[in-house]
Amino acid sequence: MENSPSSSPSPVRVRFAPSPTGFLHVGGARTALFNWLFARHAGGKFILRVEDTDKARNTDEAAQAIYDGLRWLGLKWDEGPQVGGEFGPYFQSERDAIYERHLERLRAGGHLYEDNGAIRFRSPRETVVVDDLVCGKIAFDLTNPGTHPDMTIRRPDGSWIFHFVNVVDDMEMEISHVIRGEDHLSNTPKHIELYRALGATPPRFAHIPLILNRDGSKMSKRDAGSSIASYIEGGYAPEAVANYLCLLGWSPKDNREKIDLAEVVQIFELEKINRRNAAFDLDKCFWLNGQYIATVTPGRFRTLCLPWMDRAGLDYSGRGEAYLDAVLGSIKEKIKTLRDVPAWTAFFFTDDFPFDAEAVQKTLRAPGANERLGELRARLAELPEAEFTHDGLEPVFKALAAAHGVKTAAYIHPARVAVSGRSVGPSLYHMLAILGKERVLARLAAAPEKAAAATVV
Ligand code: GLU
Repeated sequence: MENSPSSSPSPVRVRFAPSPTGFLHVGGARTALFNWLFARHAGGKFILRVEDTDKARNTDEAAQAIYDGLRWLGLKWDEGPQVGGEFGPYFQSERDAIYERHLERLRAGGHLYEDNGAIRFRSPRETVVVDDLVCGKIAFDLTNPGTHPDMTIRRPDGSWIFHFVNVVDDMEMEISHVIRGEDHLSNTPKHIELYRALGATPPRFAHIPLILNRDGSKMSKRDAGSSIASYIEGGYAPEAVANYLCLLGWSPKDNREKIDLAEVVQIFELEKINRRNAAFDLDKCFWLNGQYIATVTPGRFRTLCLPWMDRAGLDYSGRGEAYLDAVLGSIKEKIKTLRDVPAWTAFFFTDDFPFDAEAVQKTLRAPGANERLGELRARLAELPEAEFTHDGLEPVFKALAAAHGVKTAAYIHPARVAVSGRSVGPSLYHMLAILGKERVLARLAAAPEKAAAATVV
């Protein structure tokens, strides 16, 4: 017997198909991420298709927010706007001729009829089983026209209805798996009717659970943390947000929370997506962000920080890279978002840093503060430059406090405010060591006058 050629499975091609009508929200970004993970895991293609048939509601800004958000999250698309590909155009608004062609095929097959200027698809009136990779097999009884009226495909004004163009594009773009939000599950039997009428085999479907607020309501565009732009602006590290989005409906077997995307790519499977709705928890995302920032490599941390420092106008280039990395290293485990970076580092780069009114009032204007700063200055002046390190400074503070019968904090607090203008910051001895002897002495000397001049409300 002759060997029949083994049919190789069709290559994995998935797409994210947003409508550019608002911002990129968490639900959309999570859908994009799951598609991307699935494609990368399978060595397939991730396609971006812009579903812009609704001319009245589409905006260029919304499309831009989608590109920016996906790029920020690190989800590069293999085909789509700005990158091109063999299956374009990737904007539905530019695919009219393709839709006309398929409309004619449906018409020729006797599947269409006109109704008050609109074109409708005549449902075969069957029970359609959706075999979903996440939700399992679900039978939809479409036999009753009362509950399932024939769907419109084209409006009287000639514009296309979502169902039709979505199906045509998935066919034409040879999409193998449709991974999308569960809100589309009830559309899927209708889509399967269309595939069949067009003589095509439907792709596999995977409908991912909805994202709910902690109170059980469906997450909406108005909820805090719903827009990806709010994370970009909020000083989140993209890897933390991507990690958090992974956990909305998926989790590694060992229930780890912090897990790198590269590892998720290795182990991601659609069958492991949770059936239950996902609960959105901004606090958890915030926490993860702190975890990421504290543990990223110095090089990556610098890349994350520089745009924030640039934006704040900090002139950080003068003292060289080693100094910059020492500064950033001193705050890495302390800050919660990248927004904190300018305020936590400005005083390292200029002597003209602001004094926080509350810190001044509480610490520098406290009785005895000026005397303590004077004592400290006298002692530190005697410390050799080479001992101006964390380990060299600590005993000086301790000895001084012991000699005066007070807690070390009595020197630490005013010293901190004197050299940084703030009551929170990096660990004090590290901070002094980075600033160096000369600047520390000058700042301790200048502090009483600065404190007196600071406006306190
Ligand atoms: N444009 C549709 C949406 O944004 C696409 C749905 C789908 O992925 O099929 O909901």
